[in-house]
Amino acid sequence: NAAQIERIVDGLNPQQRKAVVHEGGPLLVVAGAGSGKTRVLTSRIAYLIASGRARPSEILAITFTNKAAKEMRERLEQNLGGLARSMWISTFHSACVRILRKEHEALGMRSSFTIYDQTDAQRLMNMVCRESNVDSRAFPPKTLSRQVSDLKNEMVTPTEATRRAKDRATTVLAEAYTAYQKRLHEANAMDFDDLIMQAVLLLENHPDLAEHYRRRFRHILVDEYQDTNTAQYQLVKVLTGSGDQGEDPSSAVVPQADLMVVGDADQSIYAFRGATIRNIEDFENDFPNATSILLEQNYRSTQSILSAANAVIANNQGRRPKKLWTDQGGGEKLVGYVADSEADESNFVVEEIDRLRETSGYRYGDIAVFYRTNAQSRAVEDMFVRSGIPYRVVGGTRFYERREIKDAMAYLHAVANPDDTVSIRRVINMPKRGLGQKAEDHVAQQAARYGISFGAALADVAHPGVSGREEIEGLTVRARKAMVSFVEILENAREVAASGAGPAEVLDEVMDGAGYLAMLRESTDPQDESRLENLAELHSVASEFRTINPEGTLEEWLDQVSLVADSDQLPDEAAEAANEGEVTLMTIHTAKGLEFPVVFVTGLEDGTFPHMRSLADPKELAEERRLAYVALTRARQRLYLTRAATRSAWGAPQEFPASRFLEEIPRELVDWRREESSQDVVRSRYGGQGRFGRRGGFSDDFVDDDGPVFGSRTSFVPGRLGAGSGASGSGDAGDTATSGGAGGSGDS
Ligand code: ATP
Ligand code: MG
Repeated sequence: NAAQIERIVDGLNPQQRKAVVHEGGPLLVVAGAGSGKTRVLTSRIAYLIASGRARPSEILAITFTNKAAKEMRERLEQNLGGLARSMWISTFHSACVRILRKEHEALGMRSSFTIYDQTDAQRLMNMVCRESNVDSRAFPPKTLSRQVSDLKNEMVTPTEATRRAKDRATTVLAEAYTAYQKRLHEANAMDFDDLIMQAVLLLENHPDLAEHYRRRFRHILVDEYQDTNTAQYQLVKVLTGSGDQGEDPSSAVVPQADLMVVGDADQSIYAFRGATIRNIEDFENDFPNATSILLEQNYRSTQSILSAANAVIANNQGRRPKKLWTDQGGGEKLVGYVADSEADESNFVVEEIDRLRETSGYRYGDIAVFYRTNAQSRAVEDMFVRSGIPYRVVGGTRFYERREIKDAMAYLHAVANPDDTVSIRRVINMPKRGLGQKAEDHVAQQAARYGISFGAALADVAHPGVSGREEIEGLTVRARKAMVSFVEILENAREVAASGAGPAEVLDEVMDGAGYLAMLRESTDPQDESRLENLAELHSVASEFRTINPEGTLEEWLDQVSLVADSDQLPDEAAEAANEGEVTLMTIHTAKGLEFPVVFVTGLEDGTFPHMRSLADPKELAEERRLAYVALTRARQRLYLTRAATRSAWGAPQEFPASRFLEEIPRELVDWRREESSQDVVRSRYGGQGRFGRRGGFSDDFVDDDGPVFGSRTSFVPGRLGAGSGASGSGDAGDTATSGGAGGSGDS
């Protein structure tokens, strides 16, 4: 099938071609971003089939996300047609689920085993800890749950954890792990980390099964190898047959599978999930007779974009320097913009998108906006909704659909409308107050009996005798107490609202009163940290509303938000019809492996990106820098870099200096549309600190490990929206410069 082969390798450079047709021994392709690693991997699969070296069913290709798997399959279908269908192209997790479901008997599980997500796993760990009387102050279940996850990523079994236990902490962990695992098994369930670990154990403990899969998968190809963890690495070893069992003569029956891995140590960004670049660095030791191929030509980006990315990553210590080049020419300069606030920043993004469409012929679908943390999408989403720009948020939930935001809004709706049954029932036991289904049923029955709302029946419990209705029967003392305190929380918040306070203050009152924030702050789950960030963001929205409408009530704000949240849902039909697509909003982590003609990297501030948490730790800072490298190298033609001089946290504007990554980019590569914020201008006029002299000036509050402090009752100084609409003259800016300082106590 020479013509087909020629088509597959056509256009590849010599190094790429070498990797595609490589024969004999494990193959490692290491190369910088956009050098065609994924393309080579895909082409190699096509080549193996077209040349008759492999049948489709003998291929196992591992990608990092389901989206990437889907793209790869589509590419292969273009090349090979229906043949591509019987290939396994999937993530590590889905490949393992497939194996585990098939081999459930060997595992002693029913094939219908349930997969527990992080919340389920967490809940189970809570139960285990309660049952075995673990001191939850000294050993919070959430921490234990995360540690168990780490152990599983390291392939440490409960038995091994018990053997290694040497002090109280490790003993408690080992016991919790053992009990947790037992409960999982009883529930016929596996958690996410189990999927990989159990698959490895299965194959290691059942040589016959291992042999079966080795016969089946003769070619194993792994993309983004730099982000594999120990468990995934061991899976690759046992599947290729190159693991320790190599000394076992019985395994010599099946020759080793052909292994190809591709990756880039500079793009390793999942250390927090146990990924280790050791896997890529030690590949040649781990797999004897390995061949390494280096790719150096970048086909994705212009020289300006590439030079900027190279300059940033060069600041990481102890990496192998790479010389990545492109023949695409310099291209446009990068565009830089310093905004006064995040609203100003989003406004700039919107204006540029309009300009790109009008003057350069780009479609919405060509454009992506990146941010470091999910909470940052809110400001961009708001501005997009307002300007009618169609967008979709990838890998995250739209802001107003997030669980914690819905909870907070449900509380506020319950405050505003005592009869709002859905909202009340959503949060009646959130955080947990020991109110079960039974107790709720009693209230619901009472409501039905008297034809009143659930909320009214609930209020009766708190104020017995007042309404003249009979009391609810069958409630336990505990449930009754919990209901009384829940009603009080809502009533207190109603009082605050009635006294003329704005929505932000009501939010403070109700979220503090309910213990919702305390629940998140005490948690060590990183997800809860981002939930706090999201709630801080919601607080900013609420206080900004009051800045613009000094008399605005809670109800008015709720209406406004409901409308935004609603119009969010509607697909933009006009844009669809014009085949314009949608602007993509995503965190940088989810952007890995993708490319876009136009990329906006927002929030380039020290404390935002690099993330506040990483500033004091060189290792984490290095990981943030790799993340920056990933971000910059997603862009093909145009790259925008923006930062906001002040960003709001809990309604108080916080000043942020420029990201060090921004300063690592050579000046001549960037066309600065606006290089100084209004604050900077004032400061230089009045002899304040220079533009680069403000690093480290964060308030202690903000750096505190408990996360940002909720409910600082300060007024918001520069209106977020005002700043964006050009209302911020130098007078406003002066206020900001004096009041918005490191402490963020903007109540001057
Ligand atoms: P990342 O490190 O970001 O995952 P990568 O090394 O996997 O990048 P690819 O996504 O495979 O790079 O390729 C980047 C772009 O360059 C793609 O658009 C791809 O089609 C194109 N490309 C790769 N090799 C060639 C080539 N030889 N000729 C033309 N275009 C190429
Ligand atoms: Mg790739």
